[in-house]
Amino acid sequence: MAKSPEVKLAVFGRAGVGKSALVVRLLTRRFIWEYDPTLESTYRHQANIDDEVVTMEILDTAGQEDIQQKEGHMRWGDGFVIVYDITDRGSFEEVAPLRSLLEEVKKPKNVPLVLVGNKSDLDHVRQVGTEEGERLAAEMACAFYECSACADEGGAVAEAFHELCREVRRR
Ligand code: GDP
Ligand code: MG
Repeated sequence: MAKSPEVKLAVFGRAGVGKSALVVRLLTRRFIWEYDPTLESTYRHQANIDDEVVTMEILDTAGQEDIQQKEGHMRWGDGFVIVYDITDRGSFEEVAPLRSLLEEVKKPKNVPLVLVGNKSDLDHVRQVGTEEGERLAAEMACAFYECSACADEGGAVAEAFHELCREVRRR
């Protein structure tokens, strides 16, 4: 029997964008309001994706690492989720530099990536338009999801991670 595939995924983005909340949502289908912001953890998670059991090893970064630590995480990963917070324009502006660093570290390989705009439940205090996220994802040639770790009705969080697994497996 073929061994079930394993993919290493790292989650990047400014501190406070909801990386831990998204990972916890994926793993438990629940929302945890307060999560230690300085904590960096790895989790193992299995999912059935297109009739295949895939094991994800997920690194939830703290978002406060220095450049050497970031590069180390980037070398470790096969695929990357870059998260920003739709209510925090600064977090959106950090996406492109993260992407550049990824390209540099992984050169000459093409980097499997998804872009996630989190906290879509907070539309009334939105600072980044949906079209802006779509445009940036198009520039980076990656999939884009707006979602909410605390009100994930359509399962967009799992969909984002599953799409990233597919992207990694295609390479
Ligand atoms: P991290 O530093 O990127 O890991 O962010 P956390 O997961 O620790 O979340 C930071 C803060 O944002 C916490 O207070 C969370 O409760 C809150 N948060 C995370 N995701 C969402 C979301 O989808 N909607 C709302 N309203 N708050 C969120
Ligand atoms: Mg965190």
